[in-house]
Amino acid sequence: MKFRTIRGTKDILPNEAYQWQFVEATVRRIFEQFNYREIRTPMFEETALFARSIGELTDIVSKEMYTFTDRGGTSLTLKPEMTASVIRAYIQHNLGSSAPLTKLFYISPMFRQERPQAGRLRQFHQFGAEALGSQYPEIDAEVILLALSIYKAFGIEEVTLKLNSLGCEKCRPAYKMLLQSELRKVYNDLSPDSQHRVEENPLRVLDSKDPQDRAATTNMPLIKDYLCTDCQTHFQELQSLLNASGIAFEIDGRLVRGLDYYTKTAFELISSHLGSQDALAGGGRYDLLTQELGGKPTPGIGFAAGIERLLLVLDKQKLFRGGSPQTSVFVASLGNDMIQNAFEIARRIRLAGISAEMDFHRRSLKAQMREADRQKVNVVVLVGGDEWASGAVLVKDMRSGEQHNVKVAELIEFIQQIVQAQSDKPRDSRNESELSIQGLSTKEHGTSKI
Ligand code: AMP
Repeated sequence: MKFRTIRGTKDILPNEAYQWQFVEATVRRIFEQFNYREIRTPMFEETALFARSIGELTDIVSKEMYTFTDRGGTSLTLKPEMTASVIRAYIQHNLGSSAPLTKLFYISPMFRQERPQAGRLRQFHQFGAEALGSQYPEIDAEVILLALSIYKAFGIEEVTLKLNSLGCEKCRPAYKMLLQSELRKVYNDLSPDSQHRVEENPLRVLDSKDPQDRAATTNMPLIKDYLCTDCQTHFQELQSLLNASGIAFEIDGRLVRGLDYYTKTAFELISSHLGSQDALAGGGRYDLLTQELGGKPTPGIGFAAGIERLLLVLDKQKLFRGGSPQTSVFVASLGNDMIQNAFEIARRIRLAGISAEMDFHRRSLKAQMREADRQKVNVVVLVGGDEWASGAVLVKDMRSGEQHNVKVAELIEFIQQIVQAQSDKPRDSRNESELSIQGLSTKEHGTSKI
């Protein structure tokens, strides 16, 4: 039987994992610059949490969630997004009691049963932030700046910020009715998906990418033109803050986002490097959500960004820095009766905080040297030969090619110096002759222990 990853999921193999580590480290650094603190929540929650917050009629809840009943009969769902879980934790642990503003960030897998395609998976990963406690547009501006700063930190400059306001409980219901009545007039020209949405979720008809829907809805009223004074002021103040910070944006009256809980600000960051799934990140304000989930009324705003899509852009733009970690020292042994000594030397090197590897195939010295080269180590320590008989080992600096006879008692300090000296210099390519240990007696010596 052959087992494979489930459709829409991916293994992150060692040669990719370092890219993830690079991404996560950069993301954390920027979150910390903006004073956000990490939160980690369980992979699954009660289904009702997501149904209640994201909205029963959204695509996520109605057709994409991984929902199952556990053995106790409780309906559970693998988290399809993080905001609901963060708010649940915020309420449960009373996080708002210790500070007027709670700034949280996360990096986590998410699960949605969507049709897999480039940039769209069933287990994908997001980083994101939530700021809870302020109703003012300056925190909206900060969250947007935070998201943009992360892409900038990677060297990604070409990101388009799309902005809209979705109104609030005061202005949206009247607009929704107006939109619905206008949509009913063009009902027959809409795609079947959009026809369903006219009664259930009419705002979503506006962000349909289907050309048929686009054509039918060109003259539809847009929420941004029907905002109450409070929402209008908020939207204008946000725009002037962004302008003052030199942040370019496009107002997109059709941007509605796929989740029900948004109020006022909604935004998306788009990359031209991504093809049809071009959203790098999306976010918005959700002033009613905490109350809706049983907490004290608490305004909030946040964003979520896809890591796989960020990786796609980094790859396309060749923006990865650094490389996968490499071992510093290879301990080669001359003959099988030296294996135990090589094992002990490697152990001591690691105890000193330096990474070390040895041969586990009882290979010839030549093969061990080739292996050391393949692993691009800085130093080879050779255990055996005449040196070993006199309480020493041969140390080869793989950058300079220099060899040193070093007393075992002084070995760690000696290696530390070489590794330190090499750490800032770029790696040279080596040639075949450097793979040999010069002047080495191949005679194997006794079994003296270190
Ligand atoms: P959303 O929570 O739907 O607003 O998504 C926020 C971001 O997460 C998107 O802009 C994408 O970058 C990413 N994302 C959402 N769904 C997926 C998916 N199925 N596969 C990969 N990335 C996704």
